[in-house]
Amino acid sequence: MMTEEQLMQYDKEHLWHPYTSMIEPLPVYRVERAERIYIELSDGRRLIDGMSSWWSVVHGYNNPRLNKAMETQLHKMAHVMFGGLTHVPAIELAKLLVDITPKGLERIFYSDSGSVAVEVAVKMALQYQYAAGHPSRNKLATIRSGYHGDTWHAMSVCDPVTGMHSLYSGRLPVQFFAPSPCVPFDGPWDSKCLEPMEQLLEENNSQIAAVILEPIVQGAGGMRFYHPLYLRGVKRLCEKYGILLIADEIATGFGRTGKMFACEWADITPDIMCLGKAITGGYMSFAVTMATAHVADTISAVAPHAFMHGPTFMGNAMACALARESVSMMIENSPIPRIKEIEHVLKKELEIAKNFDNVADVRVLGAIGVIEMKKEVNMALVQRRFVEEGVWIRPFGKLVYIMPPYVITDRQLKVLAQAMVRVVKEL
Ligand code: PMP
Repeated sequence: MMTEEQLMQYDKEHLWHPYTSMIEPLPVYRVERAERIYIELSDGRRLIDGMSSWWSVVHGYNNPRLNKAMETQLHKMAHVMFGGLTHVPAIELAKLLVDITPKGLERIFYSDSGSVAVEVAVKMALQYQYAAGHPSRNKLATIRSGYHGDTWHAMSVCDPVTGMHSLYSGRLPVQFFAPSPCVPFDGPWDSKCLEPMEQLLEENNSQIAAVILEPIVQGAGGMRFYHPLYLRGVKRLCEKYGILLIADEIATGFGRTGKMFACEWADITPDIMCLGKAITGGYMSFAVTMATAHVADTISAVAPHAFMHGPTFMGNAMACALARESVSMMIENSPIPRIKEIEHVLKKELEIAKNFDNVADVRVLGAIGVIEMKKEVNMALVQRRFVEEGVWIRPFGKLVYIMPPYVITDRQLKVLAQAMVRVVKEL
């Protein structure tokens, strides 16, 4: 048995954590267990979780219903290949997803993670345009400040500055970028906001297979909230030019923005939609790419007829059983009223930070609260201060933000938000 010190030393020397150096890694904290909204560290400290483990643990940690769903499935089978075989969790989950997602998304492809779901969506769009007789439509258009994952095509549509473009320039596929929407979520709508995208699509539509974007909330690329009429306008432009719309709802799906899916703010159905993160209640990696019957049928009508993707762990039975339970919980007891209350508390508690000299902006939508600083924060230092305050908040760049599990109480939420404000004030 390794001592605590040996464990942490081994971690430091051998384990790569997300976006860190192996020579000078950022500090990590060892977690012993997690329960509901608490993350318990190895030294016994309990932190209120402000991150839902990157948007995913919406029902809280160690959830009895999800635990039971996992145990039950485990005793039947953890996994069987999806080629030539199928199972009830996969079928029942599909039915739930078709029922709750925007009308018209009826064909479902299961995969292993959000980034892969985006790759699948891109392949679907390209194969669709090929089958529809437009093989030269093989690029993507998107908006700046987006984030779609760390795999190759997903990376090519991340923001060119905050993403990893510059590092891989000359190697990544070159895509078309319109500016990030200039009208915020609750700003007065101005149709000029759509003009750059309109011009881009008008001039280049013969090369573009699809527009991909995060509906309403741009997450890891900038935590920006934009106007629903922008989204509706992009959908209209896509229809006009025969381009598909891919909605990446991996972060926004399952209630986070105050609607079950952010596309609902604009009352649109995208041609392809990606889901992930919260779909299993944050228990394990799993993702879904949904498409309209038109997209699926067009692909299937032309040789090679098959859609050319099929990962080993496609339709993993444990993940499907968990997702079926997690989505059922949301259908039985909608999280939306609680998310509206969370929004109300966050608005009230974070408001004061607007007056701080070091703060550029404060914004709240659904169960997401963001304080944008004027300067980049020192991640290691801020992280330590938050842990001292008894909360788990992980900033990046100039953004200090929270998206807590929906099961957080008002009292816990106030503790979390007040710690956020206190630490931000010191910076
Ligand atoms: N799209 C969006 C909008 C995301 O926020 C993320 C993850 N942060 C991804 C795609 C990639 O998902 P994963 O990390 O599961 O590959």
